[in-house]
Amino acid sequence: MPELPEVETFKRYLDATALHQEIEKVEIRSELLLEDTRVQELQDTLQGRSFRSTRRHGKYLFVELEGDGWLVLHFGMSGRLKYFRDMTQDPPYDRFLVTFGNGYHLAYDAARKLGEIEVIHDWEAFIEEKELGPDVLDPDFDLETFLEILEQRRGMIKPALMDQQLMAGIGNVYSDEILFQAHIHPRTKIDQLDEKTRTVIDCIVQEVLRTAIEHQATPDEFPDSYLIPHRDPEGMCPLCGGEIERVKVSGCTAYYCPNRQGKDPRERS
Ligand SMILES: [Zn+2]
Repeated sequence: MPELPEVETFKRYLDATALHQEIEKVEIRSELLLEDTRVQELQDTLQGRSFRSTRRHGKYLFVELEGDGWLVLHFGMSGRLKYFRDMTQDPPYDRFLVTFGNGYHLAYDAARKLGEIEVIHDWEAFIEEKELGPDVLDPDFDLETFLEILEQRRGMIKPALMDQQLMAGIGNVYSDEILFQAHIHPRTKIDQLDEKTRTVIDCIVQEVLRTAIEHQATPDEFPDSYLIPHRDPEGMCPLCGGEIERVKVSGCTAYYCPNRQGKDPRERS
């Protein structure tokens, strides 16, 4: 599922390709995508205008329209963007296709569960309505903010990192990477982490997300010490060579290295 690094990569891709060109046509190939926005409204809002700028908050991408309004993109389980000229390059699960005056197209492609596409007037109001927490790469999201959030939260660390209303951007995959880098078992409770450890986690959150963005969120290009490229049922730990194990945490499957991250804290006496 696209998390902050993927969505930031889509943002940079859109910035580099699809800004400032007149939108000639908008085709919706899956109405299920549309949250609160009818097909006609989306077409009427976009056609004849252009994309002016973008911003990202957590896993949401906001595309500013020339004049007024924003197109909101959420990528669901597998969404991605593709900009291309020749329709033979149209991706296989194209759900939403914008055609520009210059003959190029921007497709929103999603093989699995759909995300969201809608037009809104005010991105800040949207964030408030969704009750999203601060974006974890926002300059204002500092150590103090992170410690305060953890102070108010009970339960395990992994679901706290993934809770978009506490902090926006991290999902199942990157929370596994963060805890792997921090030597912390995914079932560890927040109250078992001292302040020094919480401070280390904050640094690692920043480092992991920035590193992933630097590598265009492409796991094959991540540092050799990263878990993500090995995060599958047959995966081996890149650091100790041991088997990567899986455990359920709040309905998600977490991957971890027992040698590095210890035993399930519930089994410790
Ligand atoms: Zn290991």
